[in-house]
Parts: sequence; structure tokens; C-alpha cells
Amino acid sequence: MSNDIIGQENIKKLFLNSLKNDTLGHCYALEGESGMGKSLMTDYIAQMVVCENHCACGSCKSCVMAQAGSHPDIEHIVPEDGKKNIGVEAVRSMIADIYVRPYMSKRKVIIINNFELAMPQAQNAILKVLEEPPEYVLFLLTVSSEKDMLDTVKSRSVMLKMQPYTKAEIGRALSEKTSLSKDEIAFSCAYAAGNIGKALKIASNEEFTDIRNKSFSAVMALIDEHRILPLINLTKKENSKNISSILECLLSFLRDIMLIRIGMEDSVINRDFAEKLSQAAQKTEPEKLVRAMQDLLETENYLRRNINYNLAVSGVLLGSLEEL
Ligand SMILES: [Zn+2]
Repeated sequence: MSNDIIGQENIKKLFLNSLKNDTLGHCYALEGESGMGKSLMTDYIAQMVVCENHCACGSCKSCVMAQAGSHPDIEHIVPEDGKKNIGVEAVRSMIADIYVRPYMSKRKVIIINNFELAMPQAQNAILKVLEEPPEYVLFLLTVSSEKDMLDTVKSRSVMLKMQPYTKAEIGRALSEKTSLSKDEIAFSCAYAAGNIGKALKIASNEEFTDIRNKSFSAVMALIDEHRILPLINLTKKENSKNISSILECLLSFLRDIMLIRIGMEDSVINRDFAEKLSQAAQKTEPEKLVRAMQDLLETENYLRRNINYNLAVSGVLLGSLEEL
């Protein structure tokens, strides 16, 4: 971890000010989809809180220990070995320890990333602490959606939404961490739509280029020749581990065709395919594109809810895309 992390300036400022004015609360929950850097941010805030200079300076003893993961006043609660969820057992030892004052810092920081994994019993145990917290305790939670938190826990937490990263911020991360060319960086920035993790994932995934090319061919086969076979092959069950990338690529091509169709060429993401996408735009109707995009999103939704793969893909996706 460097002594600064990219983006989320409002959140950083909030903690800097609260530390400066000594107005820090007891529980903060960072909300945002996967890839938004929530757990990096909780580590960074924890470092800021224990830092002897209250700013994650990176050079004081507390910062060095926090960065090495060995600061005695920062604790992570994770599922127990072999378990997927955070059960009440996992929080029990933390609770036993919570009334022991911090060793080095003014505060004791408890980090629970992916709070959606905390079972109601575990959340209730944490609630008990939050009802009358020792003055030095700070909980930092991350959650994909606030819906996954018990209302009672939510009402005792300050909810903070992770903000989309700017293209400049994502560009900075990509040029620091990858050896992509300028054009590749521009595509990843546009494609990732503010999600820094997604941009890094695309950049480091060789398979992604292949998926993207195949998705493009599948869309063109549909629109140009009314052939659905490439799409059926692409989305068959053996490719299910890549289905979310496949759906995203399909969606990005349809979206680009739609943008061209309504005269917004400047916003196209897949610029390297722009010419062929323009030709496709002349061959289909906006209404059909909108319906196909809606069904793509619905398929994503079904798959996220673990609805039977074939049902989601053949039942929803293939039917509507066939009409393009
Ligand atoms: Zn420091």
C-alpha cells in the first residue's frame, strides 16, 4: 500500500476532518459494487485512524505496522476457515477483546469487509456493541448494497457510497500497474464505467480480448446475417465462468450500436470496431436494441440470483437477441 490511494477524495476528506476535529463516529459502512476498491479503502482509513499524524503518512511506526498488516489495534473479521459466511462464532472473540483498550493508538479498528456475508446473528452481536460502544471503538464495514445490512445496524452506521472513479483516476491506476498502451488504457477506462477493479481486471485478463472478439462476431452475425449459432456457442454452459464478461461485452456492443443510431458516436466505447458497428446500426431498430439490452440486464440479474443457467440464458437472452 502506498501512502495514498487513488480517488474517493470525499471519503478521505471526511475521515481527515473527523480525526482533526475529534468527531469520529463508531461505525461507517462503505457501499459499492465489487471492484470499487472498498477493502483497500477500509485498510487505508484504518491506517489513517491509527497513524500518529492522523493522515496515513506512511512513515510513522503505526503506518508501517498497518501497511504490514501487523498493527495490534486493527482487526479484520472474516469467515471462519471453510465457511462462506461470517457466523456469530467469528465475531465472538472480537467481542470478548473489544473491552480491552487499544494497545498503541487512540482507537481500536474492527474491519468487516463484505458485511453481506455476516449472518443476522453475527450482525446482532455487533449491534449489541454498537448500542453502547466503548469510546475508542471504530467499525469499518463494506457492503455491496445497504439492503444486506440489518436496519438496526444501518441506523447506527454512517453510510458512505463509493463514488465512480474518474477516467483520469482509472488511467493513473492502469499506467501505474500495467504496461498497456495509451489506446488500450482509453478503452479500459471507457469500458469500466468508473469501476477501477473492472478496469484492472480487463487489463490483466488475456482471455478478455478473446471474449470481446467473439462477442462482437456474435452480435454481427445476428444483425448482419440473422444467425444465432455464434451466440449459442458463446453462451453455452461450458463458458459459464466467463458469462458476466460475455454479457457485458454483448451489452457494450449493443449500446454502441444504439448510440451510433441516435447520433451519439462520440460516446462509443468500442472505437476499434466503430466502422462495422456503424454499418450494423443501419440494419436494426432502436426498439429492438432497447429490448435486447433490457433482456441482457435481466439475464445478468437472474444469474446473480443463481437462477438455473440454461433457463436464464436460453429462456431470456437467446429469445430476444434472435429478433435483432
Ligand atoms: Zn502515519
